[in-house]
Amino acid sequence: MDDYAKCYRLMCPGPVNVSKRVFNAMISSEIGHREREFSNLLSAIRRNCLEVMNLSEKEYSLVVISGSGSAGNEAVICSAIQPQDRVLSLATGEFGQRLGQISSIYNPNTTIHKQDWATPLDLAKVEQMLKEDHYDWVTMVHNETSTGELQPVYEVGQLCKKYGTKLFVDAVSSFMADPLDLKACNITFMNTSSGKAIGMGPGLALVVGRVDEFEKLSTYPVRNYYLSLARHYDFYKNKLQTPNTPAISLFFALNEALKIIIEEGAQNRLQYQALKARTLRAAIEKLGLRIYRPSHVLSNAVTTICLPEHMDFDTLRQALRERGFIVYGGKGPLANKIFQISTMGYVDCSDINDLVEAIHEAICESVNTSVA
Ligand SMILES: *Cc1c(COP(=O)(O)O)cnc(C)c1O
Repeated sequence: MDDYAKCYRLMCPGPVNVSKRVFNAMISSEIGHREREFSNLLSAIRRNCLEVMNLSEKEYSLVVISGSGSAGNEAVICSAIQPQDRVLSLATGEFGQRLGQISSIYNPNTTIHKQDWATPLDLAKVEQMLKEDHYDWVTMVHNETSTGELQPVYEVGQLCKKYGTKLFVDAVSSFMADPLDLKACNITFMNTSSGKAIGMGPGLALVVGRVDEFEKLSTYPVRNYYLSLARHYDFYKNKLQTPNTPAISLFFALNEALKIIIEEGAQNRLQYQALKARTLRAAIEKLGLRIYRPSHVLSNAVTTICLPEHMDFDTLRQALRERGFIVYGGKGPLANKIFQISTMGYVDCSDINDLVEAIHEAICESVNTSVA
């Protein structure tokens, strides 16, 4: 078998395994993107996504961008934030830092609030900064995937309300893994991607935001042509299309993945994600391994685990690859200190048990070789 034709159980935080039904939807039809078939598909995606999020079409809108999760983040930052706006970027890990880096490219008045990866966000400090420095925007990540720690979006949202600041949230890895109420959290724009807990392949970004904020976009300068949120919104609103040729096959699959969530019930899906995360964590702790952050701050999307003693990440990774599992390593300060397992997508508790068994074998193997 060709190496690339091999099937792995993807237990990394994206891409994730998809169900047969979603996979088959990718090859369902060949249509033109300036035809009514595509417009129908796009409006179904929008309707289904807002239904999953329990948001009304009057108050919230949605655009779909062909590109990975980062495309949606950059689209919001270059389109909704104006050049002279003051931006406070909460850098609580690798992905929070990336939002700060993107913002620094487009907005000279960006302050990156760096934070130790292993400590919770200091809300008193955030409040002090909002009060003293009058920021127009806060950018933050919901689940900081690099540590697996959920960030206090609700609390930051209340501070933003108090100080008249807009809030952009990267919910790429948390959407459909952890509950997020846009309205209660006072979120102006949110971005997520198809290739994580929605359970589809990578390649589409979904930007959801308040209709009144989408409406304002056309009065702002276009600073990135392809990623202009204004152009995406304008094409959606006036033509039910996308500005450029979309990744049509992925749109079919995204709609199928959303339909499956609606059939299951969004709340049930969230509970199932929580169950899978708990199952994994209990089994990992039974093996004697330590989870990097305390359980009450963990996202249901991903679990960050300290590497077993005397084992480097590449050895573990290789041993798990040979057994058909893909896991992820640490970034930045966590490189070769931790490994990450995701339970998003089309994996169930038996996959989780098989993986934990494989980790156990890999640890025994490395102990035996180091003794021999
Ligand atoms: C995966 C992820 C992204 C997007 O990464 P892409 O490689 O562009 O898909 C952004 N933010 C977070 C928190 C993520 O987990």
